[in-house]
Amino acid sequence: MPSEFGNELRRDPLLGYQVVVAEGRENRPQQWKATIPPPSAMRCPFCGGHEDATPEELLVLPAGLVRQSDQFPWEVRVVPNIYPSLSPAFPESLPVRENTFYPSIPASGVQEVIIESPEHVTSFTGLSEHCAKMTFQAYQMRLNAIRNAGHCRYVQLFKNNGPAAGASLEHSHSQLMATRWVPAVVDQEIDASLAYFQRHGQSYWSDLIEREMAAGERIVHADENLVAFCPFASRMPCEVCILPRHPQADFGHANSALLEQLALLVRSLLTQIEKVLNFPAYNYLIHTMPFDTFPADHYHWHVEVLPRVTVRAGFEWGTGLYVNPLSPEQAAQILRQSS
Ligand SMILES: [Zn+2]
Ligand SMILES: [Zn+2]
Repeated sequence: MPSEFGNELRRDPLLGYQVVVAEGRENRPQQWKATIPPPSAMRCPFCGGHEDATPEELLVLPAGLVRQSDQFPWEVRVVPNIYPSLSPAFPESLPVRENTFYPSIPASGVQEVIIESPEHVTSFTGLSEHCAKMTFQAYQMRLNAIRNAGHCRYVQLFKNNGPAAGASLEHSHSQLMATRWVPAVVDQEIDASLAYFQRHGQSYWSDLIEREMAAGERIVHADENLVAFCPFASRMPCEVCILPRHPQADFGHANSALLEQLALLVRSLLTQIEKVLNFPAYNYLIHTMPFDTFPADHYHWHVEVLPRVTVRAGFEWGTGLYVNPLSPEQAAQILRQSS
């Protein structure tokens, strides 16, 4: 709970970003619950039967000819993103401008879309168990394929669901962006994890799990393989972090039983979040070790689930602070009760 003196400024123990937990006594979750936008009427390019509206698949699941659906010969498709913000070329030598006043490198990389069902499902929570599991298998298969291709250093897997979370199509899908550089946030996580490891002789992430399990007040779910909790410096209401209980830096190395369990946990946590926050837009993202980071004992892959019911406005842009109207302790309690 925020301190007895009122609002509390919290600092993320790893990255140091700051959050004002501004939980007014009179505030009730319904005051900032989402409003649901009207459904779109356009012809959906991701629906089964409209495969000609997207480029040829990079991956189709289930593999082989095992048909799980009576209607369509696929359940998850991965296609190139036709509106990429990274250029798809990988020139041998890069025109790099470093050590100049205005440094730059070419923004080249890979962008893909993971279509999670042939049915017009509008949230990950509406997917069948089978499609949810295959979506996470597709994440890992594409990540490992890009690693093997050798052009990129990092793969960011993420989902935008709902216009407020940056989705332009409502059909449930995720995205993959692979870059030739390690993005700043991931770089900071890796650096800060390494610094913690050197200072304390053990992994930040293992310590984090131990402390959260001991405290219990921010835990939403825990079993022998996975733990989900609302982070101490949650940036938004019902933010959830999911970690494997056993140290593992590379999401590409998670075994398929763990992947399937993770997919179902993400689906059930999002179902709880939709119940509590009235179907908000949301993002989730998977942070994993860059391909060229060795050793990485100090790092854990993890999933960050970010419900989008608050907006970054002038104060937040000006100061870099986040303002969160719901403490993570209360959020965890509400989420636990909603399961
Ligand atoms: Zn659709
Ligand atoms: Zn992270």
